[in-house]
Amino acid sequence: MGHDDAAGRAAWLEQVIVDFIERSPENTLQPPFDEPAFDTPLVGFSKGGDPLYQDYKEHVGPFHWTPIEAFELAFPDVKVRPEELTVVSYILPQTRATKADNRKETRFPAERWARARIMGEEVNVKLRLHVVAALTEQGVQALAPVLIPQWEFKTGGPYVLASTWSERHAAYAAGLGTFGLCDAMITAKGKAMRVGSVIARIDVPPTPRPYQNHREYCLFFTQGTCKKCIPRCPVGAISEAGKDKAKCMAHLWPGTADYVKANYGFDGYGCGLCQTGVPCESKIPTARDLD
Ligand code: SF4
Ligand code: SF4
Repeated sequence: MGHDDAAGRAAWLEQVIVDFIERSPENTLQPPFDEPAFDTPLVGFSKGGDPLYQDYKEHVGPFHWTPIEAFELAFPDVKVRPEELTVVSYILPQTRATKADNRKETRFPAERWARARIMGEEVNVKLRLHVVAALTEQGVQALAPVLIPQWEFKTGGPYVLASTWSERHAAYAAGLGTFGLCDAMITAKGKAMRVGSVIARIDVPPTPRPYQNHREYCLFFTQGTCKKCIPRCPVGAISEAGKDKAKCMAHLWPGTADYVKANYGFDGYGCGLCQTGVPCESKIPTARDLD
């Protein structure tokens, strides 16, 4: 690792993630799109003992794991304290080309967007495994919670569908972004992105959270303005009341899945129209973005 201090370990972890996306041939939308799936990531850290993870049992559902619960599923014979764990979170921003293509769409996803959803998620899986392997090589116990066999989707919380580990909520805890009216996470690189996380038994300083609440970056929640994501949705799933997840999912399947198969020739789905062509697409929006 080359660093004995906590700040050095943070810098090393960030470099492992950034190097993979910037240099690995695995970061690809796959032929015939000979180009990266994602731009340079954002990286943040939260402590395993952060009380937010306990709060998520209320906000997401009682089934949502704290970091230590996830760790103990992967390492049942190891005894650790929550504060010994760090959650490593990262944001994988969509590329300029992918966003430009999807911005033009009005009903179904652009091919680059659909590829970023499917082939891009394969990149994300490889990155999670790469981070776990890099840590393991240094003698650090680590796991990617969404890749352990116990990870699953559940019903019964306040959302139509939620999982036992929400990488977006981990990213919120790691200071990487807040939630928008359309329910996507707005980060310093916008909300056209994918997210990933790894839990490790390592001491790394938590990233400061530059916000006071979970909606702070959305202009609708702070100023009552914008609402530009509402008309972007082709099926009317977004309103001032938020996102109707059931309506959104009914568009994704079978609608976008059929479209992707028929037009792009692979098994996939996706939409993301509300994540593109809006002021928060690629940045934290300000009132000036509405001019
Ligand atoms: S488009 Fe506007 S209202 Fe919708 S999430 Fe972004 S900032 Fe909020
Ligand atoms: S992802 Fe869902 S909410 Fe967003 S535009 Fe598409 S259907 Fe609407």
